[in-house]
Amino acid sequence: PTMAHSEALLVLENFIGGKFVPCSSYIDSYNPSTGDVYCRVPDSGKEEVEAAVKAAKDAFPIWSSKSPLERSQILNKLADLIEHDLEAFAQAESKDQGKTITFARTVDIPRAVYNFRFFASSILHHVTECTEMPTMGCVHYTLRAPVGVAGLISPWNLPLYLLTWKIAPAIACGNTVVAKPSEMTSVTAWMMCKLLEKAGVPPGVVNVVLGTGAKAGEALVCHPDVPLISFTGSTLTAQRITERSAPHCKRLSLELGGKNPAIIFDDADLSQCIPTTVRSSFANQGEICLCTSRIFVQRGIYSEFLKRFVAEAKKWKTGNPSDPTVSVGALISKEHLEKVRNYVKKAQAEGARVLCGEGVDPLSLPPGNEKGYFMSPTVIAEVKDESCCMQEEIFGPVTCVVAFDTEEEVIRRANGVKYGLAATVWSSNVGRVHRVAHRLKSGLVWTNCWLVRDLNLPFGGMKASGIGREGAKDSYEFFTEVKTITIKH
Ligand code: NAD
Repeated sequence: PTMAHSEALLVLENFIGGKFVPCSSYIDSYNPSTGDVYCRVPDSGKEEVEAAVKAAKDAFPIWSSKSPLERSQILNKLADLIEHDLEAFAQAESKDQGKTITFARTVDIPRAVYNFRFFASSILHHVTECTEMPTMGCVHYTLRAPVGVAGLISPWNLPLYLLTWKIAPAIACGNTVVAKPSEMTSVTAWMMCKLLEKAGVPPGVVNVVLGTGAKAGEALVCHPDVPLISFTGSTLTAQRITERSAPHCKRLSLELGGKNPAIIFDDADLSQCIPTTVRSSFANQGEICLCTSRIFVQRGIYSEFLKRFVAEAKKWKTGNPSDPTVSVGALISKEHLEKVRNYVKKAQAEGARVLCGEGVDPLSLPPGNEKGYFMSPTVIAEVKDESCCMQEEIFGPVTCVVAFDTEEEVIRRANGVKYGLAATVWSSNVGRVHRVAHRLKSGLVWTNCWLVRDLNLPFGGMKASGIGREGAKDSYEFFTEVKTITIKH
């Protein structure tokens, strides 16, 4: 790939103990919509992680002894500062990740701001338990205290959104953190570090170490002074993290991949269901763990659904992420685009029909974007349940549509994958909606909608989609250590 000559390379630094520190070696980072190297990211390893963990340990006594209200005020201030720079953050996220500027402006950055506001508020409202044993003359109560230095590792698809979803609860509870964003999307984390001092976050409370999973990530996972790891990413990496952290018996929260079904019954309101299911399949280029990738449609409406669904998918324009009329930006990397394309090829080789997108509709890209990693929304029909396209997480703008006959059958087929993150059910029969939602092996079930979230409630997956939940109460429990005290009078 060529370098962008028109502008100087952006060079990121680690943020350790309240200071930006250069690194001895760097990794190239690409702009996915042009294919150019535009940024250099520190290639941190053991040494940098060691310094960051030390800074976090040193900051812990002061930060953990602040009142929840003091921490809450600092989190709110940080939220205000990010919001003030929302446009700059959105531009940076779009350039770094390939997502559309519209998505970054309306989803990623507002949610990052909200993550800080939400935990700034929720930390003020927790109560601990108390029970009484009159015959023993005892009362029991519980206390919760921050754990220590939290290791936070996040993926490339929703960079600042997912990183702040971890940083906010961790520091609200009084922990200090060492965060490692994805090496492919580190820019907005680095930008956020520039605001920490002004927000009043003391040095060492939030440290950011940039670099690869194999070097910086593993050093963090293996560090004996980091008792808990919150990880969002792939199931494969989670297995590795579990193994590497096992000798230290670390507390783990694992938010992993999905192969999410949408189940569409013949009494569904298709005027709502079709645009929402197009969005749930292709939003953020299909690079959201919650994206739909298996659509089960009841036989009576199958052909009508397919026709209307493909027509709606074709309305989604693919191209330059900074064009406000574009709905599908670039995929994260050349390698990832290749991987997603290979899934489509495999499906074709197995006899499935590609109805639009990859290999069917020619993609015309504006000048400057020809070398970007683009793929338009791709709909595949007649795929067998056992095909890799119906079993594995593709994590791109590809969705499979298949027919089903009965409720019993579709529940079995929807549950017939190793993942269990999110499912959607479309029906106007309230009894059926409850029955099906109850039987789906999935951490989240949306009926007649998608991606409507109340951050108070648990988020997370079953089976290979993860261990643990995050949310107001769940994150509080994860990021604190509980103690039961008994008093006899
Ligand atoms: P990934 O597992 O490759 O990487 C995630 C993070 O882990 C990155 O920061 C990476 O550098 C780091 N990492 C890699 N190897 C490591 C190791 N050995 N030790 C420590 N850290 C390591 O995932 P990705 O490709 O960046 O992200 C896509 C995946 O994330 C998809 O599977 C997607 O479903 C999942 N995801 C899940 C959720 C959720 O909430 N359940 C949300 C978003 C994305």
